[in-house]
Amino acid sequence: MTQLAPSAKALVPFVSVDHMMKLIHHIGIEPMLRGLASYIESDFKRWELFDKTPRVASHSAEGVIELMPTSDGEVYGFKYVNGHPKNTAEGLQTVTAFGLLADVGNGYPVLLSEMTLLTAMRTAATSALVARVLAPKGSTTMAMIGNGAQSEFQTIAMKAICGLTHVRLFDTDPGATAKCAANLAGYGLHVTACNSAQEAILGAQIITTCTADKQYATILSDNMVGAGVHINAIGGDCPGKTELAPAILHRSDIFVEYPEQTRIEGEIQQLAPDHPVTEIWQVLTGQAPGRSADKQITLFDSVGFAIEDFSALRYVRDQIKTTGLFHPLDLLADPDDPRDLFGMLDRAAPHPHVASAK
Ligand code: NAD
Repeated sequence: MTQLAPSAKALVPFVSVDHMMKLIHHIGIEPMLRGLASYIESDFKRWELFDKTPRVASHSAEGVIELMPTSDGEVYGFKYVNGHPKNTAEGLQTVTAFGLLADVGNGYPVLLSEMTLLTAMRTAATSALVARVLAPKGSTTMAMIGNGAQSEFQTIAMKAICGLTHVRLFDTDPGATAKCAANLAGYGLHVTACNSAQEAILGAQIITTCTADKQYATILSDNMVGAGVHINAIGGDCPGKTELAPAILHRSDIFVEYPEQTRIEGEIQQLAPDHPVTEIWQVLTGQAPGRSADKQITLFDSVGFAIEDFSALRYVRDQIKTTGLFHPLDLLADPDDPRDLFGMLDRAAPHPHVASAK
């Protein structure tokens, strides 16, 4: 295993997909989800000191490529992430990502990491952290609608953090449901495959929608949602891409990460720009109430915010110090004499440079 030792040359720790998988198994999926949730919670509790901006999105007919930056004044972070709903038909993933942390003091990167797995982990940890304060107390059952790449992570996080015992699966592609059910076997949950979204939500206190379609979709219609449930809406995270009928939004108390971004990308893009929402960090700090009545419908309009990625990278950076699960990456030129970049290049030439005279 590699050690994070100081060296003459600044090498940047790089966590590959292989190392991330080893790290997750080394820590354990459920403990790591709890660890990520605690880092996200502590960063949400110091929300006001972060630099915040809606993510920078580059849209195309096929999907979106986004940059998600933030800083707490000491450390800067960003994630590169895509969302291409049609990718799975070609054997590619809908969402892939990588991210970076840097030292604000000198601008040098201090961590580069894969973030496809880490995004699934942090999205699930965030969903469960929020469900812990919004879902009905003692929730046991979740409907998981959309059984793609995120679905097992979402389910296991709800078990690890909220004590979920039952999950009811539905996907328009039965193959996705069969994959999800098979992957969840052995995780100590009662798993039921359903034939419709309507069937999946029967008896569920938590409804997670995590579908991918670049259009206004109606995964849940108004008549499907009874009083007292918590909706964890993950999949609508782009302009023009939503999952819930607007009438559900009007019956719900809506909680968001960062309103400036969610109003562009979330379910609430279907509502008036001044429709009231509660920022989840205010619930976590006790400045705003979470669930306040049994019959209340709570909706977490999740789009994914840069601070969650920052927290996840911070968590990984702390974990690799003791596990050594990274490659030291020669990413920075870092010449011995900082002004002699050319000299460094020249000394590396395979043959001495001969000046040509005219
Ligand atoms: P995926 O393509 O692997 O899975 C999506 C699944 O939804 C597929 O199995 C598909 O068959 C199913 N589906 C599509 N339409 C459906 C419908 N009408 N009813 C039921 N199922 C339907 O995608 P993924 O990686 O699991 O991501 C899902 C969504 O979550 C994407 O839109 C992605 O952008 C979003 N996402 C959000 C966050 C966040 O922080 N909020 C983070 C990661 C991903």
